Amino acid sequence: MTSAESDLEFIMSQIHARRRDPDFMQEVANTPRGEGLLSCIQCGRCAGSCPVGRLTLKYNPRRLIEMVNLGYKWEALFELSWLCLSCFTCIDRCPQGADVGEVVFALRSIAAKDGNVPKGALTMAKNLVETGHIVNPTASVSKQRASLGLPVQEPVPEVAKMAKKTGFSKILGLK
Ligand code: SF4
Ligand code: SF4
Repeated sequence: MTSAESDLEFIMSQIHARRRDPDFMQEVANTPRGEGLLSCIQCGRCAGSCPVGRLTLKYNPRRLIEMVNLGYKWEALFELSWLCLSCFTCIDRCPQGADVGEVVFALRSIAAKDGNVPKGALTMAKNLVETGHIVNPTASVSKQRASLGLPVQEPVPEVAKMAKKTGFSKILGLK
């Protein structure tokens, strides 16, 4: 394939990926954690208190719900949902109980089913399954813990067992 053909193929794949999916809102609402999006009235109260929204114009919880409702699947699944910090301030502020934090988990689950998890999140998930800890201590942190009389962070093998039983290991590409 020539470089021009490869560029064209990339552009076409992006256009295809960004097409709207009219069934997407219902797909998300039908998941166990996604139905809260149907209560949203787009008042924007959550947007003013989202800590991520203060850092980037690209994201706020009201906008995320809007993108899902309009069927912008690619943006919702692969860009926006991974920016949320799960602080749940939006849930406290929402007059409708729309539970955006839960909708975020629903979106991430849909993305993860097809193996679409950002690299950073994937690394943390693998750490969790393999050791029982999302962030493993570095040598200097371990030394500092020992100097403070804190116990050594032991592995938690039960997490791997749970991950295997639920199919989470398979999603992560682990045995
Ligand atoms: S849970 Fe996510 S969307 Fe809601 S306020 Fe926190 S960072 Fe923003
Ligand atoms: S999620 Fe709640 S607070 Fe945010 S726009 Fe929708 S109704 Fe308003």
